[in-house]
Amino acid sequence: MAGEQPAPAQRHRCEACHRPGPLRLGAGTEVEVGTVAAALERRPLVACPAGHDRSPGAALSAGAAAAALQLPLARRRWRRGDRCANCGEALLLPVRRTRRTVTVTGEALPVHTLHLDVPMTRCADCGWDQIPVRSHDDLERAVRAVYLPA
Ligand SMILES: [Zn+2]
Ligand SMILES: [Zn+2]
Repeated sequence: MAGEQPAPAQRHRCEACHRPGPLRLGAGTEVEVGTVAAALERRPLVACPAGHDRSPGAALSAGAAAAALQLPLARRRWRRGDRCANCGEALLLPVRRTRRTVTVTGEALPVHTLHLDVPMTRCADCGWDQIPVRSHDDLERAVRAVYLPA
């Protein structure tokens, strides 16, 4: 009560035992899931009094949302390959490995950095880069695994 804002951190709870604790940034993690590699420079953790090192669900949601904003997903075209999420044209250019650095922010979360190495294809019509449909599941699983390593 010395004129400081009360920390909002107590809203976070350990995913393992549900004890409340402040958030801290722990060591980084790196995962590879199929066609997608993901790495966190520092991983947000709830400092659990029982010593569990779990990331809060809010960190995973914020990371997934930040990735979705920066990495457009191609649309599925039934039996005819992928099409552009922006203009709808067929995506015919070869897939290239692309690295993206995503800054993750969220209410009461420490700002942290997520690196993604993903296949992307560029629309020949409008120039949008996007992730081919066959890698969408890999992306979702890689983002989950980098926050919640086994
Ligand atoms: Zn715990
Ligand atoms: Zn396009």
